[in-house]
Amino acid sequence: MIDSDYERDRADMVARQIEGRGVRDPRVLDAMRRIPRHEFVPEIERAHAYEDRPLPIGYGQTISQPYMVGVMTEALKLTPGDRVLEVGTGSGYQAAILSLLVAKVISIERISELAAGADAKLRSLEINNVTVLNGDGTLGCPEKAPFDAIIVTAGGPEAPEALRRQLCIGGRLLCPVGPRDGQRLSLITRTPEGYAEEPGVGCVFVPLIGSEGWPN
Ligand code: SAM
Repeated sequence: MIDSDYERDRADMVARQIEGRGVRDPRVLDAMRRIPRHEFVPEIERAHAYEDRPLPIGYGQTISQPYMVGVMTEALKLTPGDRVLEVGTGSGYQAAILSLLVAKVISIERISELAAGADAKLRSLEINNVTVLNGDGTLGCPEKAPFDAIIVTAGGPEAPEALRRQLCIGGRLLCPVGPRDGQRLSLITRTPEGYAEEPGVGCVFVPLIGSEGWPN
């Protein structure tokens, strides 16, 4: 495939899978039109990069379904000055989408090879407002907190307490919560009095493994 094929497939993906299924935020749609998803999947998966499904990225992990990336990004209600934490860098694709929407992204990945690969990919695309860290993201990044938004892209038994505490007032934490074989997106907003929680759509993510996730 050549670049124009990928561009056509990407435009089609956004029109059918993202906008066509109800994602309306024009900034999210624009970011998904601009970030070359095929660059974030292994060579052997490139021809499938714009299909409506997650794809393997090695180490038993996946790049999330494009629709889920669109829904989650929209739900975070991001504004350009925001500082965002992502837990589960994986390929770096979600971080790249976020990079176009906010001022600064910190992204944590527990598998060092994936963290290094994502970091190299983001640099090669000249995306310079994302910092990729290797470690247990269920603990967040206290030294860079508080965050306006936190997105967890792996499924845990509950929303990590450490992440709730790293939200600023008005900050949003979005995470898939539930059993290993199926979760529900949970959107938690920090208020002056505590936390407000809204359950969202059903989803299936790879496990969130760590001290406030599933055991390894
Ligand atoms: N956001 C990614 C992307 O755009 O490619 C997809 C993420 S993949 C569905 C989930 C990732 O979360 C995996 O790469 C996995 O290794 C990582 N993960 C699981 N538990 C983690 C933890 N405690 N801290 C950081 N990363 C974790």
